[in-house]
Amino acid sequence: MRIKIVAANWKMNTTLADAHVLADGVRLEVEHLEKIEVVLCPPTIWLTELAHNLPVGSLPHLMLGAQNMYSEEKGAFTGETSPLMIKEVAEFVIIGHSERTHLFHEDFELISGKVQAALRHGLTPILCLGEDEHTSGSKRQLVHALNHIVKELSHQQLEQLVVAYEPVWAIGTGQAATAEYAEDVCAALRAGLTAKTRILYGGSATDENAKSFLEQENIDGLLIGGASLKLKTFVTICQIADQLS
Ligand code: PEP
Repeated sequence: MRIKIVAANWKMNTTLADAHVLADGVRLEVEHLEKIEVVLCPPTIWLTELAHNLPVGSLPHLMLGAQNMYSEEKGAFTGETSPLMIKEVAEFVIIGHSERTHLFHEDFELISGKVQAALRHGLTPILCLGEDEHTSGSKRQLVHALNHIVKELSHQQLEQLVVAYEPVWAIGTGQAATAEYAEDVCAALRAGLTAKTRILYGGSATDENAKSFLEQENIDGLLIGGASLKLKTFVTICQIADQLS
């Protein structure tokens, strides 16, 4: 059985005060939802602060994640954050988000290196993948891209990996994919993974459409951007995931 994940990508939002209020609010509301895993991914700069209230390993089903990291352990990489640093304050790390590939030109080699580095250091990577446009060949291209990125991973590492299917046309647009469409792509992605690998859907997920995605056989949770900044909405999504578990 795959435990469902509800992950929050706060992106470049929140002041430190906002981050505390949001994280504390989520903690209070989801503490008893023990059937799911909730992962909060605040801006990297707030991770250390939030980890005071949520230390690594303290609450097995409420964890912190980073939104990005570099693949090297240390050295002359100005502005970057290493897996060794992330590991002290978080358990997950989002890798290859479309905003990183589009705005910061991350390519498959870099993304693959980051995924391997995360796994090597005991972090759980949430590898994001999604097509730019809704076309007939996009599913095949995604499967090809996934195979390329994970080709160096062992079976055991594939089991630890989390993949987030995030069609770029659905991110932040209010135009979520239909649950059937997302399930079809996630099933195709799973064929190159393992039965234990968790696959999330992301792209304008809300408390209104969450149930439809979470009911699908190959969708094991949600990666949520905009709606994760609204405490009540995010908590409702967590409750729906818990009820369906
Ligand atoms: C995201 O950026 O990962 C995302 C899914 O954003 P949104 O939920 O706002 O579409």
